[in-house]
Amino acid sequence: MAKVLCVLYDDPVDGYPSTYARDTLPVLERYPDGQTLPTPAGIDFTPGQLLGSVSGELGLRKYLEGLGHELVVTSDKEGADSEFDRHLADAEVVISQPFWPAYLTAERIAKAPNLKLALTAGIGSDHVDLDAAIRHGVTVAEVTFCNSISVAEHVVMMILSLVRNYLPSHEWVRKGGWNIADCVARSYDLEGMDVGTVAAGRIGLAVLRRLAPFDVRLHYTDRHRLPAEVEEELGLTYHATTQEMAPHCDVVTINAPLHPETQGMFGEELLSQMRRGAYLVNTARALIVDRDAVVRALESGQLAGYAGDVWYPQPAPSDHPWRTMPHQGMTPHISGSSLSAQARYAAGTREILESHFSGTPIRDEYLIVDAGKLAGTGAHSYSTNS
Ligand code: NDP
Repeated sequence: MAKVLCVLYDDPVDGYPSTYARDTLPVLERYPDGQTLPTPAGIDFTPGQLLGSVSGELGLRKYLEGLGHELVVTSDKEGADSEFDRHLADAEVVISQPFWPAYLTAERIAKAPNLKLALTAGIGSDHVDLDAAIRHGVTVAEVTFCNSISVAEHVVMMILSLVRNYLPSHEWVRKGGWNIADCVARSYDLEGMDVGTVAAGRIGLAVLRRLAPFDVRLHYTDRHRLPAEVEEELGLTYHATTQEMAPHCDVVTINAPLHPETQGMFGEELLSQMRRGAYLVNTARALIVDRDAVVRALESGQLAGYAGDVWYPQPAPSDHPWRTMPHQGMTPHISGSSLSAQARYAAGTREILESHFSGTPIRDEYLIVDAGKLAGTGAHSYSTNS
């Protein structure tokens, strides 16, 4: 019987919820591109409940123990003495969420001879060393599309909140003030601005679609160009590279995976080529930007604002400079872990486990690495060092 090691974020500080703000979730039929939502044989959780924290267990215990497997759930993931490291030695499956990633480095993969499946309950498998997974025959899968729209909504929220100076204005209310001038001295309309996305995959395209009604000029760059009818419908300007696109934008949103091509893309040089006072929103991965270059650009005014929910490492240390840099609207890594998204990625995790344990193929769109090479979505959207 298999050991399934599941690394999840901690329960709320006030304890696991017994009531919720809303009673139900809207029922979705399909994802926007027609892909079906997760189709597990069954689920043992109530959609809308907190599934991504330790007590939520992604709703997997009954199913896995019913098959005679062992489920270990922990949030303790750092250091050689962590519960994660202790159980990794004989684990067959590791499940982790990008919000609280169990970093599966080459060293850790080498110490896990039984490991067959690294499963991301979410999207973005950069916390797994894909080259090492390829070498060791470990399958890497994620729940493609499960939270892409959740993130797109967060991106739109962050763009508006930066451009309109929402968070500092809200602070004046909390402080008892009525300081109109303080609030509006950095407040603009989005209307008429040039907004560009680095990558127009599931999230990037959803952001473009959501922003089109704001009467902005939309730009994008991607490795594969969108169909001409989509470009025409949304009035998109295509740029062959991020370097070509960035100088034409007032707002740039990053929606590409972290892989060798994108790591460190927004360094000092690219930031200096952006329009003075541009806004940068990064909900993709922190290492796509240079941490300290972003701080300097905000301090000098080269960037008027930076927001996002992705940090490195995660959780971010309490002295991480992005907590205190000016003109930022950072959140912890939450955009893809709304209760709505959790219901989908818990179901998708179950679907992938059902395929794994029954020996049937995992859906191609869920695969990042399989049979010793990039596969499925991984073959389309990722690159490796080898
Ligand atoms: P998709 O696979 O649908 O889209 C990724 C897109 O990135 C693809 O269109 C791909 O191009 C493009 N791309 C890859 N490399 C480059 C590059 N060098 N330059 C330009 N474009 C590139 O994934 P999603 O849209 O669903 O998610 C994107 C990323 O967002 C995830 O990988 C993850 O890192 C992050 N994410 C963050 C979440 C959060 O909670 N903050 C939650 C979910 C995802 P092509 O395929 O055409 O080659």
